[in-house]
Amino acid sequence: MSIEIIQMFIPKSNTFTRPGIKMTPTSITDHETDNTNVRANARAHALLQKNGNRRQASWHFQVDDEPEVYQSIPVDEVAFHAGTRSGNYHSIAVERCVNKDGDYLKTIANTIELYKFLLKTYPSIKEIKQHNHWSGKNCPRLMRQGHKGMNWNKFIRKVRAEADVAKVKKVVGAGKSTYQTSNTSVSLNNKVVLKNSATRYATGERIPARYKGKTYTVMQRGSNRVLLKELYSWVHIRDIESTALRKLDKTVNTIKVGSKVTLRKSASRYATGEKIPSRYKNKSYTVQQVKADRVLLKELYSWVKRSDLLGLS
Ligand SMILES: [Zn+2]
Repeated sequence: MSIEIIQMFIPKSNTFTRPGIKMTPTSITDHETDNTNVRANARAHALLQKNGNRRQASWHFQVDDEPEVYQSIPVDEVAFHAGTRSGNYHSIAVERCVNKDGDYLKTIANTIELYKFLLKTYPSIKEIKQHNHWSGKNCPRLMRQGHKGMNWNKFIRKVRAEADVAKVKKVVGAGKSTYQTSNTSVSLNNKVVLKNSATRYATGERIPARYKGKTYTVMQRGSNRVLLKELYSWVHIRDIESTALRKLDKTVNTIKVGSKVTLRKSASRYATGEKIPSRYKNKSYTVQQVKADRVLLKELYSWVKRSDLLGLS
């Protein structure tokens, strides 16, 4: 098993959650997201951070059951995760996703790979601590209760096992364009286009050029990948574009920066996956940014789905 670290950093301008304060990390702090919602995976959490978390909370890495680990903050910068100053200023934070559509033990295995990699790569990091160590919070909760037979001591023994070294395939910086569309609306039997910029299947092999830019049917969906029926291959979600989204983009082009829109009463979640409090619904907001399937609302500083808006024309 190996992991791949994808860097999708919080913009430096967002000093609310990425203060830019330098530090030398001496430990890793282990967290669980405690968010069991479907698709509340590593990518969703990374997008939440990148798009601007409204809570002053941040963390360096997020891990789920897929090989792609997302990094949001460089390891030599402070994040707000520990609940205490000493934790925030000396420890890097890893959030383990516990979404119910994820495989808990695979997520643990990926966390172990990440910790081995971090310990080997950054010699200043000596210890692994629970969030609980800093603030007394019951986090990582499932690990602390030994969920699925994996308790803290066993976990640390596996991280420290010398026998197998870390297997990180590569660290890649996320290209700006790669993450501009969200594909959270991709579901079974959707028609999608494999982007021309796609280079490798989710399984690592190179994608022949003749397969790119063509339309395929989604046969299965993982949290970061989809199985394309006609290719019978898994590709990264970041490498596909939904044809439905393309169409939407063409027809609903009346939405412009500065327009007033109303957030529907039926809206349940932000485009980044968090629940929308009902006090924000059925109110009018100003459009600040527009993307294919989502809109940034100025007063909320949050991305919402286009389909959750009224007053588009
Ligand atoms: Zn925590």
